[in-house]
Amino acid sequence: MATRRCNPKYCEKMVHFPFDNTYAKMPERFFAKVSPTPVANPKLVRVNRELAVELGLDPDELSSDEGLQILAGNKLPERADAIATAYAGHQFGGFVPQLGDGRAILLGEVIDKSGRRRDIQLKGPGRTPFSRGGDGRAAVGPVLREYIVSEAMFALGIPTTRALAAVTTGELVMRETPLPGAIITRVASSHLRVGTFQFFAARRDVEGLRLLADHVIARHYPAIAGSAHPYHALLNEVIEAQAKLVASWLLVGFIHGVMNTDNVSVAGETIDYGPCAFMDEYNPEAVFSAIDTFGRYAYYRQPEIAEWNLARLAECLLPLFGPDSDAAIAHATEALQAFAPIFNSAYQGGLRQKLGLTREREGDNELARDLLNAMVANQADFTLTFRRLADALDGPEGDDGAASLFNHPDDFTEWAVRWRERLAEEEVPTAERRRALLAINPAYIPRNHRVEAVIRAAVDREDFGPFEELLTALSRPFEDQPGFEHYMEPPKEEERVLRTFCGT
Ligand code: AMP
Ligand code: MG
Repeated sequence: MATRRCNPKYCEKMVHFPFDNTYAKMPERFFAKVSPTPVANPKLVRVNRELAVELGLDPDELSSDEGLQILAGNKLPERADAIATAYAGHQFGGFVPQLGDGRAILLGEVIDKSGRRRDIQLKGPGRTPFSRGGDGRAAVGPVLREYIVSEAMFALGIPTTRALAAVTTGELVMRETPLPGAIITRVASSHLRVGTFQFFAARRDVEGLRLLADHVIARHYPAIAGSAHPYHALLNEVIEAQAKLVASWLLVGFIHGVMNTDNVSVAGETIDYGPCAFMDEYNPEAVFSAIDTFGRYAYYRQPEIAEWNLARLAECLLPLFGPDSDAAIAHATEALQAFAPIFNSAYQGGLRQKLGLTREREGDNELARDLLNAMVANQADFTLTFRRLADALDGPEGDDGAASLFNHPDDFTEWAVRWRERLAEEEVPTAERRRALLAINPAYIPRNHRVEAVIRAAVDREDFGPFEELLTALSRPFEDQPGFEHYMEPPKEEERVLRTFCGT
């Protein structure tokens, strides 16, 4: 038999997504079936090849023309069940009974190489029944911001949704000014939120709540499925995951910016990167989001807001806790009381690690607090101060790097004397300690002014080179990368970016 020769132009393989969809099999009130709206002239910005492989996708197929058509929403892959999910949420404290995916469409779920179920979702693919007045689209700026920051969070070891691809659409989206449109393909353990529970609770749909809770348990917390009180255990698990997540944000200087209950993942991942930002100089009151007029989501308020959001989840779960409502409330209250100790232990433990301490001693919290207070008073850069501790391990001759970040360098050097005294109480070889410090205190974070510069290059000149370069630097945040020193630096006065926007 003659072998059939393919002209590669006409013989492209079908892009294969190994879908195994479960949420689309939930009752119809959980979502709306909807297809992406095709776009005029899509162009590939980037495929995250490593992540594609992890998901069992072929990165070359994904980068082909057919792959591009899928990533742009012009074509649905085989066996996709395209849906927009329903959810509600408290936005800046006010309850909205119906939000839902207004500018996102879930294509389906795959089981990744390590056996984990992952959602693949297009963000910006056009209107859905949940779009309200919106256009269902995303602009290139927010797409690049989400891509950069979510991948940076991943590299920092913080639970997060991921970015599988970004494309431009060749169409304009109307915001304050017309902006080039784009779509990001987002990957998450799931897109289920505190707001998803609120959607059913607001409708007194206890059956819906139960189905959702069972789905979340099976998917994210299978170990508790057989426990005596799985719904109590579910609340405990989400509280623990969120308390640890928010602690990890504080330890890298991250401000989410819109911690509405619809932006809180029940899987404990950072989700919905909007006007988020990393702080440069340490300032607990930092707020970057242009829409956060009252500083509700300021850096230092994130733990208390997370706890407030979890109280909303607890309220939703009450009907599942049994017929005795007093007992149900008592359970919920007790569960919520665990938030503070879990958060504090994760945060204080994290700070000790950032100082290179291996054991807990009395006075450690004060030592850390005094450094942080000195950083506030001296407008010292958060990331670099910790990074440069590694140079100061041996003695005062190594203090200059960190001290130069302080308006009054003595404030650092005086603190460093106490710090080294405390280090001396632990017998750890200096080389080991240096390695540990450099592995916990990043050199590279997605600094606002760098992210903005990337966006400007893309919007003004269609130049995605700076985007690629910044991603490279951020992919290995704990390694000093020769040639990329400038990505470590805080902004110069004229480069400072004080406001960030969601771009909705
Ligand atoms: P977010 O700011 O991404 O957390 O979105 C809050 C809510 O507004 C969600 O229900 C979104 O789906 C919806 N939304 C945001 N931007 C748009 C848009 N451009 N078109 C339609 N819905 C949107
Ligand atoms: Mg959202």
